[in-house]
Amino acid sequence: MTVNGLIPADSMGLALIHEHVFLDWSGADRINPQEWDNEKAFGIILPYLQEMKAQGVRTFLECTPNYIGRNPLLLKRLSDSTGLQILTNTGFYGARNNAHLPQHAYNENAQELAKRWIKEWKNGVDGTNIRPGFIKIGVEIPLSSLHEKLVRAAAITHKKTGLTIVAHTGPEAGAYRELEILEEEGVASEALVWTHAQEGTRESHVDIARKGAWVSLDGMGWIHPSDYEGDSTYLKDYILMLKNLKDNSLLHRTLISHDAGWYTHGAKETQNYKPYTTIFELIIPELKKIGFTESDIRQLLVENPKQAYAIQVRKHRN
Ligand SMILES: [Zn+2]
Repeated sequence: MTVNGLIPADSMGLALIHEHVFLDWSGADRINPQEWDNEKAFGIILPYLQEMKAQGVRTFLECTPNYIGRNPLLLKRLSDSTGLQILTNTGFYGARNNAHLPQHAYNENAQELAKRWIKEWKNGVDGTNIRPGFIKIGVEIPLSSLHEKLVRAAAITHKKTGLTIVAHTGPEAGAYRELEILEEEGVASEALVWTHAQEGTRESHVDIARKGAWVSLDGMGWIHPSDYEGDSTYLKDYILMLKNLKDNSLLHRTLISHDAGWYTHGAKETQNYKPYTTIFELIIPELKKIGFTESDIRQLLVENPKQAYAIQVRKHRN
C-alpha cells in the first residue's frame, strides 16, 4: 500500500525498506504540522530522492511515525514528482523516552490503540485518504509495560490488516520479547521486522532469522565515507553481519537499508542530510569482493522487500 494506493507486491522492484525524508523532534505535546514549511522541505528533499532513483530504486518505506513528522501529503507530492513508490505507516514510537507518545498511548489499552491504527488503515492518516503500508512502532530495552502494549497493539492491528510490523528495537533482547508477545497474540514471527538489528549480535541474527523474523540491518547511511578508506569497523561490521547470514543460508530473512535522510523541521539552514546511496557505492562493491552474487543482491533489495511487506496476515501455528 503506497501513498498513491495499492500496488502488486511484484511491482515494488528495488526497494529501500527504512528511510526518512521529514522529521520533527518537537515531541508529541508540542508538535504542530501547521508550522511545517513543506515547500522548503520539498525543495531540499527532492534532489536526494532523484539521486536515489538514479540508483535504480523504485520503492522506499518512509519510516517516520505519527507525532515525529509523518507527513503524508508531502510524501505524495514527492512520489508524484519523482515516480518513486513511497509507503507511510501507522503506529506509535515509544523510543526516545516516550517523547513522541500522545496522552492516549498511556490511557488506552492495546485493543483501543489498535482500533486507532486499524481506522487509519481503513480511512487514511492525518485527515487524508492516504493509507499506511506498514505498522511502525518503537520500543526501548527492557520493554516497559507501556512498550509491551505497543507491541501487542501492533500484533492486534496486524491480524486485522495484514500490515507488517516494523519495530524499532536495537539489541536482540527486545526482539525476543517482541516475538513472545506476537506468539501470545497468535501472530507469526514472519510479521516482524527486527529493526536496527545491527545493534544485536551475529549469533542472535542467525537465531532470530531461523525463527522466521526479518533481520533488518538498516543504518547504512550512517557509515562515514572516510571509513571506507581507513579501518572502519562499522562498514566492516555490516559486511561481516551479511557474510554471516549468507554463510548460514539466511539471506532470505535479511533486509538492508540506510535509515538516511532527512529534512528536520526547525533545524538551521544547513540540513545535515544523508544521501540514500551508501548501499550502492560502498556496500554492494564490498559484498561482491567476498563472493556475493547478483542474485544475492537481488534477494536483499528486491525479493525480500516484496516478501516482507506484502499485505498478508501471518498467523502463528502451534
Ligand atoms: Zn529510522
